[in-house]
Amino acid sequence: MSDADTLFERIIAREIPAEVVHETETTLAFRDVRPQASTHVLVVPKTRYRTVAELAAADPQLLADVVTTAEEVARLEGLTESGYRIVFNTGDDAGQTVFHVHAHVLGGEQLGFFGRYTDGA
Ligand code: 5GP
Repeated sequence: MSDADTLFERIIAREIPAEVVHETETTLAFRDVRPQASTHVLVVPKTRYRTVAELAAADPQLLADVVTTAEEVARLEGLTESGYRIVFNTGDDAGQTVFHVHAHVLGGEQLGFFGRYTDGA
């Protein structure tokens, strides 16, 4: 990895505090500091890849671990019946700000549509 460690390596190393929801040998799930839904949890692999496509190419089992942890988070948060969304933002147009691949797990209320940028109005 050529660029500097991201925030998420520091959360995984417990150098920066986060509200951890679930942890496995290969993944960590913690609440997003700026939630976009009633439940908003981030799931990261403990090994860093920049994007979900890089992760899929390099370590498909680890991508499966991330998705399985997201599903477990949904169960722990009581979202299994009501439904939830798993989002992997990739690159600037999608609004990716942290280049350590992460799944957003969103739910706990009716979610809006998504797609074209709006300013929230
Ligand atoms: P992205 O925009 O890259 O898809 O998602 C990055 C996410 O990380 C954002 O939803 C943002 O709110 C969240 N985030 C940024 N800084 C922190 C932090 O220090 N702690 C936690 N728990 N989440 C953060």
